[in-house]
Amino acid sequence: MIHNIIRGRAVPSSAGGHRDLINPATATVHGRATESGPTDVDDAVGAAQEAFASWRLTTPADRSALMLRAADILESHIEELTDLEVTDTGKPRDATRDEEIPASIDVVRFFAGACRVPEGRSTAEYLDGITSGIRREPVGVCGQIAPWNYPFMMAVWKWAPAVAAGNTVVLKPSELTPSSTSRMAELLADVLPPGVLNVVCGGPDVGAAIAAHPGVAMVSLTGSPRAGRAVAHAAADRFARVHLELGGNAPVIVFDDADLDATVEQVAFAAYYNAGQDCTAASRVLAHQTVYDDVVARLAEAARTTATGPLISAAQRDRVVALLATAPPHAKLVAGGGVPDRDGFYLEPTVVAGLRQDDELVQSEIFGPVITVQSFRTDDDALAMANGVEQGLTASVWTRSHSRALPFLRDLDFGAVSVNSHAPMGSELPHGGFGSSGYGKDLGIYGLDDYTRVKHIAHAW
Ligand code: NAD
Repeated sequence: MIHNIIRGRAVPSSAGGHRDLINPATATVHGRATESGPTDVDDAVGAAQEAFASWRLTTPADRSALMLRAADILESHIEELTDLEVTDTGKPRDATRDEEIPASIDVVRFFAGACRVPEGRSTAEYLDGITSGIRREPVGVCGQIAPWNYPFMMAVWKWAPAVAAGNTVVLKPSELTPSSTSRMAELLADVLPPGVLNVVCGGPDVGAAIAAHPGVAMVSLTGSPRAGRAVAHAAADRFARVHLELGGNAPVIVFDDADLDATVEQVAFAAYYNAGQDCTAASRVLAHQTVYDDVVARLAEAARTTATGPLISAAQRDRVVALLATAPPHAKLVAGGGVPDRDGFYLEPTVVAGLRQDDELVQSEIFGPVITVQSFRTDDDALAMANGVEQGLTASVWTRSHSRALPFLRDLDFGAVSVNSHAPMGSELPHGGFGSSGYGKDLGIYGLDDYTRVKHIAHAW
């Protein structure tokens, strides 16, 4: 049974309920997680408030030392954490152990270092006879709500900057994938003081209770726009700070001078990794009309030769299949689209071509192994089509011409824009979007800043 972790101890929910955990690769129940109620959220917030009283006063050096030890502990449990992650998500084991978990541990180390770098504008006399300076302070108790697509990584992206900045945390993993998060908090109870990192298991009701809790000073959520809107409404009632990462619908603009071998290889990888359940997935290819047929044929070939893991649930697969069914008569299914005859929640890597800008498949975040392809004629058309969706997280441009790419770096309305690569990510690099993709940054110094508040302090002479 996966338990809540409150004050460093594994505790069952006070409500006594539980939820079955299903392995998406086999569609079988592999375990159970405790299902919390409002009393558990109260308890966890109380623990975080108690811990905040002293954690906020620790020096960056002390926090950093503990976080570096935390990273070492996670590293020494990488096989166990991988097993938990793989059974909850159905992810391929190698990519989980060799890429996702190590990259997440690097995030802990990054924030352990970043919190030791003093940053602030100059202390000086801006008014006669008064010296003014700036303090960057922790915000307080952070309520954090994570999704199921990268459970361990998203949990780390949430707690590490918050804790490094001197906050304490109540973190809710997705109800579908709580195991690696609960175990991480249990392991870290050996280094972090009790109450600094609390984990509460449960579904949307528990997330809503966290967002509405008067003891929570900041709410951070990665998930759907629907959940983000609900959280922002709840937080608005008491003016709690909100930090939202709500997915994307990334355009991939392929010009006629692009290196098509490299482009298609990288785009197919970025589209089908994690079965496309990725907010930065390279899902929306816009190809110049002179290379359109070639791009479609190459993507179709890549789809036929790519193996992906399952989707997270039957419901998520049904959602993607239902979206594919909205394809209008002018669209053409050129690869995949079928549900393989095997156990688990699989869907074939898919390419749908001939789409138009208003089609639902273009406008919606698909969050499955699906690439849509549209054709464009001029650079202005490409820009308008790329920007012509509600989401604004990630975009990429593929061309050999710097002068052609530069205006797109400026004019694409997305939180990350790259040329000849798609959504490169690192612990130092801010991640977060515009529009319905939400606001606030994860990672980088900007991620740390988001978990601090600015105070002007002044002293008269
Ligand atoms: P979701 O938004 O419902 O779930 C994400 C997290 O939010 C979970 O922990 C969930 O329990 C919690 N939650 C849900 N409703 C809440 C509420 N009203 N108040 C507080 N917490 C709440 O995501 P989903 O329904 O599992 O997936 C639906 C779609 O969301 C996906 O198809 C995808 O488009 C998008 N999504 C995006 C990301 C991302 O990385 N940005 C991650 C997961 C899902």
